[in-house]
Amino acid sequence: MKVVTPSSANHTDTQWHDETTVLHGDAALACDSSVVAPIQYSATFRADTPADFADMANMPRPPAFYTRYGNPVHKRVEAILAELEGTETALLMASGMGAISTTVLSLVSRGDHVIAQKRHYMSTSKLFEEVLPRFGVEVSIVDQTDLAAMAAAIRPETRLIMLETPVNPTLSLTDLAAVAAMARPRNIITIADNTFASPLNQKPHALGIDIVVHSATKYFGGHHDITAGAVCCSAAHAELIWKMHVTLGSVLSPMDAWLLLRGLRTLPLRLERINANALALAGWLENQPRIERVFYPGLASHPQHDLALRQMKGFGAVIAFSIKGGFDMTSQFVASLKLATHAVSLGGVETLIVHTAAMWAGTMTEAQMQSAGIEANFVRMSVGVEHIEDLKADLGSALAALEHA
Ligand SMILES: *Cc1c(COP(=O)(O)O)cnc(C)c1O
Repeated sequence: MKVVTPSSANHTDTQWHDETTVLHGDAALACDSSVVAPIQYSATFRADTPADFADMANMPRPPAFYTRYGNPVHKRVEAILAELEGTETALLMASGMGAISTTVLSLVSRGDHVIAQKRHYMSTSKLFEEVLPRFGVEVSIVDQTDLAAMAAAIRPETRLIMLETPVNPTLSLTDLAAVAAMARPRNIITIADNTFASPLNQKPHALGIDIVVHSATKYFGGHHDITAGAVCCSAAHAELIWKMHVTLGSVLSPMDAWLLLRGLRTLPLRLERINANALALAGWLENQPRIERVFYPGLASHPQHDLALRQMKGFGAVIAFSIKGGFDMTSQFVASLKLATHAVSLGGVETLIVHTAAMWAGTMTEAQMQSAGIEANFVRMSVGVEHIEDLKADLGSALAALEHA
């Protein structure tokens, strides 16, 4: 088998469009004549000689030594993701949270100060607000829409800033270029969770962000079947993060890496439809009498629409909206939907919908929901690739049913 070193594995000189990269960005890593990548379903890999074995064992990020260290299928996915995000390299993990927690834990130590957003994916908030303080890391939580507050939170010992945009529950945005411009001169590492946008809609590294993290469970996999995560960054950061990864062990199975690779081949096609469907549906929802408010960065009514136009090319699958009439009316609306599936997650081919307050009612008090910004009448929808008229008909009849409530 051809041994590919991490540097040649991760960056090609060819500058393709994203649509081509997802199909051919891993071509240099082909190991036989099959058109489709083989699943290299092996936990361990043999060397031809003891000297080769020693090379493999001591190389950082070996492609074929032991699967916790790396796997040839992982390398193919990583090559594509690095190209899409415009970073030197990428690292694949078993979930988005695996990628985020491994990255953060590899970069901070006792005594460091870090900044995170008031709103994040819930488990990311837990990492910053509950886990890091237990290990002597000081955390400042800042309203991500307030750049002055961000600047004021920076201290001499600030080590990193964690960003995420767009973010639940109202799809507010973070000005990535502005935060990167504050952080770079002070050597503060910036991390952006780009899951909600995807690199086809937004490229944080091009805006000055150091490390881009993803839940590959969402758009990249695209079919609601696997969980996976990725970190896109420089080779130097990747080596640091990889060392922590070997210790923490958030390892994606070769089968799931292969499914992810297959999902990536159609990412631009799926996203083109998703962007168009979601934008059309958000505009349509805004004109329905039973809808109180629609939150979508692509709408002129979004409070940061100008920023959305500046840093995003498309606006993604997720629309948040509120129903006139409170919790019960919202429950009834969601219950009468026939096409949209009641499930969490986003970015897959099927449209998913969640009544957010009902989902958290068992684990959060009303006060906790209030502080997390979750209103009783909020609905979060991830728009899929169904025909737009069928989606409108489904939402329309559920809204019409409320008239007779
Ligand atoms: C889903 C998600 C995560 C976590 O990813 P998993 O793959 O579920 O671990 C992190 N950030 C965002 C923005 C997400 O949507």
